[in-house]
Amino acid sequence: MKAYTAFHSYSVGNQILALVQCQMRGLQPGPINTFPKWKDLGRFVKRGERALTLCMPITCKRREENSDDENTFTSFVYKARWFTLSQTDGQELEPITIPEWDAERAMKALNIERVPFDHTDGNVQGFARGRQLAINPIAQLPQKTFFHECAHILLHTGEGDFADGETTPRNLREVEAESVALVCCESLGLEGAEYCRGYVQNWLSRGSGFDTEAIPEKSAQKIFRAADQIIRAGRSEIASVTA
Ligand SMILES: [Zn+2]
Repeated sequence: MKAYTAFHSYSVGNQILALVQCQMRGLQPGPINTFPKWKDLGRFVKRGERALTLCMPITCKRREENSDDENTFTSFVYKARWFTLSQTDGQELEPITIPEWDAERAMKALNIERVPFDHTDGNVQGFARGRQLAINPIAQLPQKTFFHECAHILLHTGEGDFADGETTPRNLREVEAESVALVCCESLGLEGAEYCRGYVQNWLSRGSGFDTEAIPEKSAQKIFRAADQIIRAGRSEIASVTA
């Protein structure tokens, strides 16, 4: 929540990266911008301040051997280019408003449909089928369940480029979906994070073939990506994607 409030226009991964660096250096977390962007805002970076490092996408071109085709692809690099508000001085900043988040808007943008809950087992909180989701009308934490089922659609049941329901073991699918719910609940300041932690730990401990103490790197990437997609899709403004 702290990272999201300060750095909401950045990806979840970069928000956490920025927050950790602020904490390590004893800096007050706040809006971050590059040197020239701060200049545009009438502020300057204080003498001796060191830039924060974030991960940024770059577009590369690659020419295939024996062919005239040129392919473009995205690669990620770490660059030290950003400064947080407390590292700068100058003109007062306009108060920053965090865009509102709405579930209906998110579903529309993600091409997800809500269907009536027709499961006979009342203990089931919700389910995802293809690009459809249903939430039990008496679910304990309907918003947490919504994020969980959205994550299953984006990562497991839908036909997206990350859909791999067949190949990811059940326990890891649950870890992934609930971790997305955790990141979304925390970022948007909604209740449920405590439940998420217990659920993730429970499914993680049942794993086999990987370290049951840690979430595998590939799953972590999927979790951040899906959480980003869900948060961005539900926001009231199209935030400029800087990193
Ligand atoms: Zn699930």
